[in-house]
Amino acid sequence: MHNLKREISLQRASELRSRIDDYVSARKSIPSGLELQDAINERKEKILKILGGTNDDWKDYKWQFKNRIMNVSVLSKILDLSDEEAEEISKVGKKFRWAVSPYYASLIDPQNMFDPIRLMSIPTHLELEESGESDPMLEEFTNPAGSITRRYPDRLIINVTNVCAMYCRHCQRRRLIGQTDKAESKDTIEESIQYIRANAEIRDVLITGGDPLTLPDETLEWIIKEIRSIPHVDYIRIGTRIPVTMPQRITDDLCNMLKKYHPVYINTHFNHPMEITLESKEACEKLSNAGIPLGNQAVLLNGINNDRHTMKALNHELLKCRVKPYYIFHAKHVTGTTHFNTSVDDGIEIMEYLRGYTSGMAIPSYIINAPEGKGKTPILPQYMISRGKEYIVLRTWEGNIIKYPNSPTVDIKKLLKAPIRGM
Ligand SMILES: *Cc1c(COP(=O)(O)O)cnc(C)c1O
Repeated sequence: MHNLKREISLQRASELRSRIDDYVSARKSIPSGLELQDAINERKEKILKILGGTNDDWKDYKWQFKNRIMNVSVLSKILDLSDEEAEEISKVGKKFRWAVSPYYASLIDPQNMFDPIRLMSIPTHLELEESGESDPMLEEFTNPAGSITRRYPDRLIINVTNVCAMYCRHCQRRRLIGQTDKAESKDTIEESIQYIRANAEIRDVLITGGDPLTLPDETLEWIIKEIRSIPHVDYIRIGTRIPVTMPQRITDDLCNMLKKYHPVYINTHFNHPMEITLESKEACEKLSNAGIPLGNQAVLLNGINNDRHTMKALNHELLKCRVKPYYIFHAKHVTGTTHFNTSVDDGIEIMEYLRGYTSGMAIPSYIINAPEGKGKTPILPQYMISRGKEYIVLRTWEGNIIKYPNSPTVDIKKLLKAPIRGM
């Protein structure tokens, strides 16, 4: 008998292993940045030479920020661009600003025009397509005060700057990026904070931009301290792509400042396993060690991560850096970015091959932002096939169809008060 149970268990284990054969073999061709570290280091040396910097400069975020590459002739040297490519970038750049930190540029393989890091950071002629809208979320109509966007009953976002270490080519707020760096004025931020102070139902404040971590420590601390002093605010969230695009910014000073204002949560924005490097991992670890729980908000992007194996590898790598996958956003139809849009089917397929196939820890929610700021809406494969009064019909991750009871909830207080039976 014992042997039969063991036999069945072994057979099931082997069947389970075979469920991820395709992933295990695909994973070999999806290297993370950590596995590409030698090539990245070589490119770093080359970029340092072009920019006239030292290894110490590289580690200094102020140097990284000051040396953001925004000039086509410098970029040409780094990526060995042809004249046509350089001209294309110049032309697109007149319409949509671009900039890339030397660090983020070092992640790009110059030989590969389909490199995911390149597609996220370097303009292409596809941005000149006329389709899409500049503000599909109608953020300008959900701005009750200062630089606030309010779409929900108990929480809101406050935009503090339009500056980023790298301007994502898929940016949903590119209308605000404009042609110049511009932090919100102290007055506007004060007006925003005053609104939060005056509205007691706001218990969750999300500081975003642009990238809030491009602000100097002192300005950031002033904002956080002010929000923290509001008794009805339970916790503060920061939305930032800095750990991915300029991880040098995550200094001990910054961590020591943030941890004075707990609870502070950070959601970052990794989209591809290649963005996980020694430096970005270290930045995440520093924030975690300062007691800040980290989440990831990826965007589903055509040609970058709209692939079930890539997205699974990304989520696995994130967990190794103590970052919990939080959301996968369906890309919005924003002018200049529509080539990155995928079908909803791409997103559902990714979700289908996460549940059951990997840890629940590695499964974010897939979200469509309803147009006109009507809110984040979760999209799932169908697991409940029907729902009746007596029972429901479920589909499991492997496709088993199962009848499951749906008996009514009884009043537990009534049960407890009823005469004792069976004693
Ligand atoms: C995304 C968002 C939030 C936060 O939403 P969560 O689902 O709580 O993470 C809050 N306000 C606005 C305007 C948002 O777009």
